[in-house]
Amino acid sequence: MSEKRGFLFVITAPSGAGKTTLINRLRQEFPEIRFSVSTTTRAPRPGEIHGRDYFFVDRGTFDALVARGAFIEHAHIHGNDYGTTWDFVNAALDEGRELVLDIDVQGFRALRARLGARANYVFIAPPSLEALERRLSGRGTESPESLSLRLANARKELLAAGEFDFIVVNDDLETAYGELRAAWIACHLRPLYRAAIVPGPEAGNSP
Ligand code: 5GP
Repeated sequence: MSEKRGFLFVITAPSGAGKTTLINRLRQEFPEIRFSVSTTTRAPRPGEIHGRDYFFVDRGTFDALVARGAFIEHAHIHGNDYGTTWDFVNAALDEGRELVLDIDVQGFRALRARLGARANYVFIAPPSLEALERRLSGRGTESPESLSLRLANARKELLAAGEFDFIVVNDDLETAYGELRAAWIACHLRPLYRAAIVPGPEAGNSP
């Protein structure tokens, strides 16, 4: 067990809210960040790499992983399945790593039910649903069916924003990054991660 406590930073955003760009900026500035690579049945998009962006698997493999209990949470999203493996989460907790997880609202709720305040939860919101629609269609990666599915989901996900510790609004990228960075730093100030100041019960000085 490492001295340092594992730090889990869960980021949730509707598809098209600019989450990937913001996460990449955070990873550039804080190179100690590990990224939880999810497993999915979705087909890779151009440029995506197996093992870096996702572990792309077929349905049989995904179902076998579910049966084996490999996932701390998994969800059916936009017609495909996605799951976070225990491996990433346990390694972060046991080895005192800094882990960023990019998951949807269902995944956030499942993780919070399991980990509670052991993790930190941030929602990235678009400035409006109209702006989100413009961004998603401009991206040109989605079929019309996938686009409308993603917009319908975004509407529902926005209703969950109030359940998170922080909400970052991504209208202007620089401002949004400033907010995300502030949330990252603020979360590190929680007593849970201030072991040098707040000794655990093993220090033998609990009241
Ligand atoms: P995309 O297909 O655009 O890469 O991702 C679609 C959605 O799946 C995003 O909202 C993303 O956060 C979510 N997602 C990716 N990996 C996981 C996962 O392991 N678990 C859950 N619950 N959601 C995930």
